[in-house]
Amino acid sequence: MSDDTKIFLSESEMPQQWYNVQADLPSPVPPCLHPGTGQPLTPPDLMPLFPMGLIMQEVSQERWIDIPDPVLDLYKLWRPSPMVRARRLEKALGTPARIYYKNEGVSPAGSHKPNTAVAQAYYNKEEGISRLTTETGAGQWGSALSFACNVFDLKCTVYMVKVSYQQKPYRRSLIQTWGAEVFASPTDRTNAGRGILEKNPDSLGSLGIAISEAVEDAATHDDAHYSLGSVLNHVLLHQTIIGEEALKQMAIAGDFPDVVIGCTGGGSNFAGLALPFVREKFAGRDIRLIAAEPTACPSITRGKYAYDFGDTVQMAPLAKMHTLGHTFVPAGIHAGGLRYHGMAPLVSKLVDDGVVEAVSFSQNPVFDAAVLFAKTEGHIPAPETAHAIRAVVDEALKCKETGEAKCILFNWSGHGHFDMAAYDAYFAQKLIDCELPQADIDEALTHLPQVGG
Ligand SMILES: *Cc1c(COP(=O)(O)O)cnc(C)c1O
Repeated sequence: MSDDTKIFLSESEMPQQWYNVQADLPSPVPPCLHPGTGQPLTPPDLMPLFPMGLIMQEVSQERWIDIPDPVLDLYKLWRPSPMVRARRLEKALGTPARIYYKNEGVSPAGSHKPNTAVAQAYYNKEEGISRLTTETGAGQWGSALSFACNVFDLKCTVYMVKVSYQQKPYRRSLIQTWGAEVFASPTDRTNAGRGILEKNPDSLGSLGIAISEAVEDAATHDDAHYSLGSVLNHVLLHQTIIGEEALKQMAIAGDFPDVVIGCTGGGSNFAGLALPFVREKFAGRDIRLIAAEPTACPSITRGKYAYDFGDTVQMAPLAKMHTLGHTFVPAGIHAGGLRYHGMAPLVSKLVDDGVVEAVSFSQNPVFDAAVLFAKTEGHIPAPETAHAIRAVVDEALKCKETGEAKCILFNWSGHGHFDMAAYDAYFAQKLIDCELPQADIDEALTHLPQVGG
């Protein structure tokens, strides 16, 4: 086993293909349905919003998909990302477990999100699109897409939830630095936004409203498409570069994970690391795959596996997924990137098949783990990432009890440099561990659409 702390791949060792788990599933993922007709979606339904290159990836059953050269070139700005052995964390925990993490915080935007942003910008550029629209909550996705559009010379319009626009000015500054235009949503630029403002001029916005604005903007302009940062099959596909690198790095380390862990909002960073290990599991390896989510938005651990709308206003397609209901509004926890009502259909299917398991944590234990990580390993994790760290710490402490020397690998999805207000709130003991009453979930689930499956 290697004594190194960081395990690097050279650029020439970087994987050249994304892995499509759809090729290896024992049964197919249930298709997405048209929100109006309830019929399975066809590629033409998606053409107003997405380029053909991405639509074909969404439905592809090919096991390997070549990463285009211009995308590989851009990945080389920060990839391959290091895999790090967290020896100082192991020591602090007194665990016989070996802990490794993939540091996706080294990207320009500071998270895994540029892995798909760059690919999405590329396919849109190839098909003659000149502008992308998107929504952003805390600004992580908006900044990643702004970076990607800039490098491919595309315009980018970001609808940023107004409360974040006001409270998180520095992610907005990143978005502007890379050249995108960013508006506080609701705006008066779209029918959706104007409708909300008429009823409530002081609306602070929501992700659901911002999505509606971004989709309307793209659908009503021929030169523009829409871009989504998680949940969809092609987004998870692009993120598999993380797990493919990790497999090579584990081989160099002379080790192999017994447990693979990631935090889940829409499911993309977890899937990016985990899906290549799902392939290994299907091939007979004994691996546990654990998704870590917030108790305030527990789509896997307490949601229902059912068809639901992807968005609040019922414009987006219906997907079969673990969902808390499209009307569910989670509490304002600091891990903004984990506040989506549903889970990626691919991750949901793997949970339903018993391949992936899930755990949930509330804010204070999550920040306990974040601060322990920062004090031992130095890097300050995003609040989202800290959910994965909490799960890692718990697994490592179990090993301490049982004396098992397990190998744990997790995805360090991003740094927390723009989230220090959340750390301040934790130190001031102002973080609330909200218990989500079952009645709230039951109520939201009564709004699920009535469709088959
Ligand atoms: C957006 C984000 C997440 C959650 O999104 P997924 O699609 O579930 O990965 C997690 N961590 C960080 C740092 C993020 O920016």
